Amino acid sequence: MASSRKVQIGPLAMGGDAPVSIQTMWDKPVDAVTPELVSTINNFAAKGCDIIRFALPNMKSVDALAPLLKQTEMPLVGDIHFDYKIALKAIEAGFQKIRINPGNIGESWKVEEVIAAASHHGTVIRIGANEGSLAGEGDWTPEARSRRLIEAAEQNLELFERKGFKDVVISLKSSDIEVTYLSNRDFRKRHDYPLHLGITEAGPLIPAIVKSTLGLGDLLKEGIGETIRISISDNPEYEILAARELLSNLGLRRGQIRIIGCPKCGRTSFDTHGFLESVKEELNTLPLDASVAVMGCSVNGPGEAKHADLGITGNGNQVLIFKRGDIIRREDICSAKKAFLEELEQLRQEFSS
Ligand code: SF4
Repeated sequence: MASSRKVQIGPLAMGGDAPVSIQTMWDKPVDAVTPELVSTINNFAAKGCDIIRFALPNMKSVDALAPLLKQTEMPLVGDIHFDYKIALKAIEAGFQKIRINPGNIGESWKVEEVIAAASHHGTVIRIGANEGSLAGEGDWTPEARSRRLIEAAEQNLELFERKGFKDVVISLKSSDIEVTYLSNRDFRKRHDYPLHLGITEAGPLIPAIVKSTLGLGDLLKEGIGETIRISISDNPEYEILAARELLSNLGLRRGQIRIIGCPKCGRTSFDTHGFLESVKEELNTLPLDASVAVMGCSVNGPGEAKHADLGITGNGNQVLIFKRGDIIRREDICSAKKAFLEELEQLRQEFSS
């Protein structure tokens, strides 16, 4: 597959030889930048989020969020509908990328003003088509729906191309996984703009992860998709962790811990669910290209734990801690967490030395 062009969103490159980036969207209105907001964004970054989008429904929301630009290195995307003046204000404020739907911005001179301001400030613009807002008639096969989606995106693109504006990211969104696959695959054959992949309205945690994995996995395997969002009707943190898991399993992302955990059964002598819950923050934020196994008993536990960089498994009323194949500690269940975290820290030091 032909490679995409590269665009620069603040410190983040998207497209070309840049790794596939992970994004999420803030899930509530923001009246002011608080220390909690900044620390949550930093935590999202530690979990793998590369870029975050905020809804900017009015002028006030731009003023409320602008101070965040100086308090985080993560590029911010302003999501704007209907009013081109909000887009102009967000660009002036320094948002590194905006997302607009040219169709609801109105007359083309308004879109042209946005393009001129974005050119001047080096702002990237995501434009795209969403199947939910298309008036579809007649043929409802995935192929026909995909063609309509591509046509809508190309109509939106037309003015940008006429103005010679190339700092564009495109999204073609559908809640159907086949339409998502076909439209993005065929669009890439025709254009080299970076593609933002996602299944729209994917639903709650489990359906969203299954649909997104099926819908995006094949595209990513074919080298299509420069940034992804796993839309989930839940905490944005899950979107980041799911995206990272998908990319990591496809070999497209490194630098985060891969977790092997047993589901537990009647043989368990160690509560792997509770243990994983108690150490998830450390496992999800340490930037280690390592595997960690958390297993329940001595039947399958030692085998899996041995193959991991760090493993822990129940063994009667004790746990065994493994490091790269060797048992390095035996602990009572009550000291398991402390011992495990000590070894995790040791591993971190080895990786960073
Ligand atoms: S490792 Fe042991 S406790 Fe966990 S699922 Fe396998 S047999 Fe059951």
